[in-house]
Amino acid sequence: MGCGVSRKRESPRETKSDLSDEALRRLVGGRPGVKAVKIVAGVDVETSPWVRLKCQFGCDGYGQCLVCPPYTPTPQEMRQVLDSYQRTLLVHFEPEVTVKDTIVELEREIFLRGAWKALGLGAGPCYLCENCVLKVGACRHAERARPAMEACGIDVFTTVRKAGLPVEVVRTTRQCPNYFGLILVD
Ligand code: SF4
Repeated sequence: MGCGVSRKRESPRETKSDLSDEALRRLVGGRPGVKAVKIVAGVDVETSPWVRLKCQFGCDGYGQCLVCPPYTPTPQEMRQVLDSYQRTLLVHFEPEVTVKDTIVELEREIFLRGAWKALGLGAGPCYLCENCVLKVGACRHAERARPAMEACGIDVFTTVRKAGLPVEVVRTTRQCPNYFGLILVD
């Protein structure tokens, strides 16, 4: 900003919506397929540089859709985003739920209840098109396509365990995985 005028950083408290914690818990916790929901401060959602390497080396989805790296925020960029939210909702889903579809529906409901910063993150790559356009700004389903938490550098295991929810490394096909989504609220 010019003329020596510096912009004072907005306090997060000034940007929080009127939606109460209880209303959020009711709205999300009552949804079919939701096992548990925890309100987590943005600063308590863990990000780490190694997460991006796990996408780049070892995942065949790397670079295959606009909601995966390298198109998504880096862990450092995501850290700044998360630190600007007082409240996020960590949602534990039943295994049969389509996490991203449900996260997008919840994001919209929360937004319409007055939380203008609401943004949902799911799990896994994008299955909405057979082949992604891979051109930034040209997504065919921008209203529904959301990145996974891990695609934005979030350390899902540490975040989930810190919140007191269960998650284990899946070692066999008989083991039932745990699925999570995150909604940035305020
Ligand atoms: S909706 Fe289609 S175009 Fe958009 S990210 Fe997903 S696969 Fe790519």
